[in-house]
Amino acid sequence: MKPAPYTSTQDISHWVNNQPYSGDASRKKEIFNPATGEVARSILVGGSDEVQAAVTAAQAAFPAWADTPPIRRARILNQFLALLNQHRDELAAMITAEHGKVFSDAQGEVTRGIEIVEFACGIPQLLKTDFSDQVSTGMDNWTLRQPLGVVAGVTPFNFPCMVPLWMIPVALATGNTFVLKPSERDPSPSLLMADLLRQAGLPDGVFNVIQGGKAAVDALLEHPHVKALSFVGSTPIARYIYETGAKKGKRVQALGGAKNHLVVMPDADIDQVVDALIGAAYGSAGERCMAISVAVMVGDVAERVLPLLIDRIKTLKIKNGMETDAEMGPIVTREARDRIESYIQTGVDEGATLLTDGRGCSIPGHENGFFTGATLFDHVTPDMKIYKEEIFGPVLSCVRVDNFAQAVELINDHEFGNGVACYTRDGHIAREFSRRIQVGMVGINVPIPVPMAWQGFGGWKSSLFGDMNAYGEEGVRFYTRQKSVMQRWPESTAKGAEFMMPTAK
Ligand code: NAD
Repeated sequence: MKPAPYTSTQDISHWVNNQPYSGDASRKKEIFNPATGEVARSILVGGSDEVQAAVTAAQAAFPAWADTPPIRRARILNQFLALLNQHRDELAAMITAEHGKVFSDAQGEVTRGIEIVEFACGIPQLLKTDFSDQVSTGMDNWTLRQPLGVVAGVTPFNFPCMVPLWMIPVALATGNTFVLKPSERDPSPSLLMADLLRQAGLPDGVFNVIQGGKAAVDALLEHPHVKALSFVGSTPIARYIYETGAKKGKRVQALGGAKNHLVVMPDADIDQVVDALIGAAYGSAGERCMAISVAVMVGDVAERVLPLLIDRIKTLKIKNGMETDAEMGPIVTREARDRIESYIQTGVDEGATLLTDGRGCSIPGHENGFFTGATLFDHVTPDMKIYKEEIFGPVLSCVRVDNFAQAVELINDHEFGNGVACYTRDGHIAREFSRRIQVGMVGINVPIPVPMAWQGFGGWKSSLFGDMNAYGEEGVRFYTRQKSVMQRWPESTAKGAEFMMPTAK
C-alpha cells in the first residue's frame, strides 16, 4: 500500500512548556519539498528571546524532574515509545517530505531512533552506581550519578528524527531538562515528537524546541543555564561548538563530518561488495554520516567490481521518495545539489576518471526537484579535493592500492575517522583491520556499522570533538556527573580535629 504523504502547510513553530510557541513570528524561513522543488511550509526562526523562553521553562522544570524517581521517568518514556511506534509512518512521511530520503529508509531511521528510547527505558539499572563498604572503620563510600540541569541538542538535517533521539531519551531519563534546536531544513518531526512526549505525560517545560539556525545556537551557547550541549553536524560547526561551549564552561560532545572508506580485499565476495557499495554510497543519496564515499580497491579487484557496479548504477531507481519502489530520492536543497555537482566538476578537473556522471538528472514529473544521479569516479588519489573533503552526496570515489598495508595507511592518514568497512574472507585480515584502523566505528563485511542503542556511537579524529560517544552508557555518563559520598555515623565520643590527609583506620 502506498504510504500517506505529509502535506501540511502549517507554519512550524517552537515548542515551550508543552505547547506550540511563536515568539517573534515575523522571522520565517521557507521549507521545500526536495522532490518537487516547491515551497511546502515555513518555519519560525528563533533567536535569543525564544531561547530565553525555552531555557527559563526548562530551568523551572528541572528540580522536580531531577527528583522524580528514575523508574517513573522510565514509565513516561515507555508511553513515548508506544506513541512513537504508533506514529512511525507519520514521522517517516514527514522525513521523506522535507529531507527527500525514500520512505522505507525514513521508516528505518525512525526505528533506529526508537531503539534509543527502548534503551533509555532501562534507566534505573543504568543509574546504579558503586558502593564501597567499610573504607575506614565505620565509614562507607559510594557514588551517585546526578543530572546536569538544562541541556541542549543541536541536530543536522540528515536524520531529523533519529539524531534528536540519540540525545532526548537519555538526557530525559537521567533527569535533565532539554532544549532541542533541530535542523532548519526538516523541522517537522521535532514538533510531532514534542507532542508525543506531552501525550506520554512529560511534565511542562521538561522538553522544549527552538527552531532556527546560528542565532538560536549561539544563544544556547551563551546561556549560563545551559550546562551541556550535544551537537551533530558538519566538522567546522562541530569544532566551533566544542571550542565555544568549552570556553563557556559547558560540557560538550560535538560529532562532525566524515569520509568513510570501504576496503575491498581481493578475496572478498564480489556480489556482496557491489550490493554493499550501492546501498552504502547511494542510499539516502549519500547524505549519511556513515555513507561510504571511498572504495579502496586492493590489488586487481577493481577490474572485477567496477563493471558490475556501473551496471547496477544504471538501473538505480531515482524517484520521489514516496514512490514505493524508489531506491534513491532527491538531495535536501538546491544549494546542496549544486555543491555536490560542483565537486563532480572538480574531480574531472583534478584528473579522476568519471565512470558515471550524476549531473543533469531529470525525473519525469519532478523536473524542478533537487535530483542528482549516482556518480562514480575511478583513479582518485589522496591529494585530490574530492578525496580529502566530505561531499555529502551520491558520489563514490575509487582509490586503488597495491596491498592491505597501504589501505590501512591511507585510511589512517585521513582527517576524518567516523566509519569504515573491510570486505574480506580472511579472518586474520579482518582482525588486523579492526585493531589497526584509526576510525571509531568498524564494519567487517558490514558496510554501515552504526552501533546499537546500548553500544554508543562516535567517530575519531575530526569526526568527534569531546570525550564521550552519543547514547549507550557513554550517553548516560555524558548527561550525568559523578558525586562521591563518604559517610560515617561516629560514636558520640569526640576525638579532636585531624590535620593529616585521611587514611583508612
Ligand atoms: P550543519 O553543520 O550545517 O548543521 C548542523 C546544525 O548546526 C543545524 O542545526 C544548523 O542549524 C546548525 N548550524 C549551522 N551553521 C551553524 C553556525 N554557523 N553556527 C551555529 N550553528 C550552526 O550540518 P548539516 O548540513 O545539517 O548536516 C550534515 C553534516 O552533519 C555532514 O557533515 C554529516 O557528516 C554530519 N553528520 C554527522 C554525524 C555524526 O554522527 N558524526 C551524523 C549525522 C550528520
